[in-house]
Amino acid sequence: MLIPSSWLGTAADKYDLVLKGGRVIDPSARLDAIRDVAISNGRIAAIGASVAGTSINTVDAHGKLVVPGLIDIHTHAGRSAESAGLLLKDGVTGWIDAGTQGADHISDIVAIARSSLQQGRVLINIGRAGLLSDGDTMDLARADVSAARDAIAKNREYIVGVKARLSRDVAGQNDYEVLRRAQEVAKSFNLPVMIHMGQTISPLPKLLALLKRGDIVTHMFAPPPNSIVDDSGHILPEVLAARARGIWFDVGNGVTGHMRWDTVEMIMKQGFLPDTISTDWNVNSPTTGVIDLPNCMSKLLNYGMSVSQAVACATINASRTFAVFKNRGTLKVGAPADIALLDLREGKFEYVDNFNNKITGSQRFFPAGSVLEGKWFPRA
Ligand SMILES: [Zn+2]
Repeated sequence: MLIPSSWLGTAADKYDLVLKGGRVIDPSARLDAIRDVAISNGRIAAIGASVAGTSINTVDAHGKLVVPGLIDIHTHAGRSAESAGLLLKDGVTGWIDAGTQGADHISDIVAIARSSLQQGRVLINIGRAGLLSDGDTMDLARADVSAARDAIAKNREYIVGVKARLSRDVAGQNDYEVLRRAQEVAKSFNLPVMIHMGQTISPLPKLLALLKRGDIVTHMFAPPPNSIVDDSGHILPEVLAARARGIWFDVGNGVTGHMRWDTVEMIMKQGFLPDTISTDWNVNSPTTGVIDLPNCMSKLLNYGMSVSQAVACATINASRTFAVFKNRGTLKVGAPADIALLDLREGKFEYVDNFNNKITGSQRFFPAGSVLEGKWFPRA
């Protein structure tokens, strides 16, 4: 039976949890209104201005935003067993480790993903030794197609894509060939490739030509050389064409070389908004300019993005990038009850880019609690 999302329930209904009176923002349903959200058996059971019935637990959400659980598609959560719990406190109910490890040590990351409270999945680095301070694929032999294929074949459930880091200090002259090999691996399993763009040796259009529908470009705000804008600040026609053929553009906030406010402004002014907002998070992020995903979402509010657009980037849009997040990123009745409670505060908030430039904004999202498959996790 199809239950309309306006279903209010009856006095006889019994729920496990009700979030009462919050401002529910669910871009998947174009909803932005004060609502109660009722949960039963780990799923959204009813949403309405006032849900009738009784509930075992109630959370007072007055004054808070109630949004679908946040999905962070570019993290390095796989580095630590603590990551999952820390991310859940930030409202993150699904994460992707984007290329921390390659074939040689992929089982370390897969083990972390497997033990994660929330859905955690892995992109395998095409460089078989994973992240290296002297460059993952500076030695082209490390971009080992058969080693990556073997690793994926052994971990089909947890490896959901291939990561190719292409900056000059990571891949050097090999950027194009590294990406070609990443696609060769991905093609065997029908998986997406995520590229780490910015400061490459090859021009970006040459690299974009190798991308297919469903692939992801992370670090989209990277400043020149080889950013998504030309010398006069216009979005490259090849970038617009890439978006038109179904390639996603992701923020990948990070700390080194990925984000500079002048480049962000130039891109946002032209209406080229990100599809997804991600952090490039690791356990040290709370002490850097990243802090958490809600903070990274807040930054774009200073460049013309609405609250609802920022929420969409970390919920419904993010859920579309990897099949594992199908049915997530939404509060539709029947969906798994993954929810982030956020506090949208007004004031003066400082945001720092990757070059220590600071801006002051008037709004910031703070995490205030999470629901994972119907279970309430307070922030404190
Ligand atoms: Zn990263």
